[in-house]
Amino acid sequence: MPDTQPLDLQAVLDDIYRELTPRLGEGKVADYIPQLARVDPKRFGMAIMTVDGAVHMVGDADVPFSIQSISKVFTLTLALGKHGENIWTRVGREPSGSAFNSIVQLEHEHGIPRNPFINAGAIAITDLVLAGHTPKEAIGEVVRFLRYLADEEDILIDGEVARSEAATGYRNFALANFMRSFGKLDHPVEHVLGVYFHQCALSLSCRQLAKAGLFLAAGGSNPLTKHSVVSRQRARRINALMLTCGHYDGSGEFAYKVGLPGKSGVGGGILVAAPGRASVAVWSPGLNHNGNSLLGSLALEMLANRTGWSVFGA
Ligand code: GLU
Repeated sequence: MPDTQPLDLQAVLDDIYRELTPRLGEGKVADYIPQLARVDPKRFGMAIMTVDGAVHMVGDADVPFSIQSISKVFTLTLALGKHGENIWTRVGREPSGSAFNSIVQLEHEHGIPRNPFINAGAIAITDLVLAGHTPKEAIGEVVRFLRYLADEEDILIDGEVARSEAATGYRNFALANFMRSFGKLDHPVEHVLGVYFHQCALSLSCRQLAKAGLFLAAGGSNPLTKHSVVSRQRARRINALMLTCGHYDGSGEFAYKVGLPGKSGVGGGILVAAPGRASVAVWSPGLNHNGNSLLGSLALEMLANRTGWSVFGA
């Protein structure tokens, strides 16, 4: 727990990096597609953007990486903007306790995924983002939204990653077909997954990601870009979902150890909101047994301990 001295966040980041440096390379890099398998496991970056506009970075914080499932936070925000609370007829708000790509619960719950952050739920959300669009337009909307959030034009989709996701995404096709068989997807499976694979292939650096997510820590508007994104209530609710469901079946563990809303991706990134304080992004490609960044989770645990930023009390 911090003392009464003002927090030197750069010193905290530098310390975390120093402590973790001997462990770089730990964990297992995702290898289901070659583009992720060949990422250097020793990469490590971290960026903090505070709600009053300070930026702190360490390591590879400016190197773009595949954000994968972190994109689900942004498509959820888009779907809520388009359809409001009606989205909850298509997807639940409960932690799954199952693997990110589990199909079992879908059968029990008649094609309604448990939450927007497991794969099935994110696919249902992407279907809602597609409403009124061709797949190409929807992909364009997602990219433009990220650029608007981060106020940076050079946010791109890695086309090779998107193509590999499509070529190997048998489980995602199964999930989508299963939902469609229950009448729970409005668009053809190929269209929905075309968009889903592209959103997963977005490449952002920790700095860009922290900036894009700052609205979640700052009551719905981004104090750096001055962009108003969602209402306070909506920001709070997205944070609640990140806290309870953002780390697949490791969500309880992450809440216990870090105590902050966060969303991870198999590329090794984690985006975290410390409400009223800061947005934090970390990247370390080695994953733990739940598919969440091993050292990224540890770095955030160290940050939460040193800052007292846990939502459960300092
Ligand atoms: N593209 C991956 C999939 O859909 C994302 C998984 C993840 O980041 O957790 O399987």
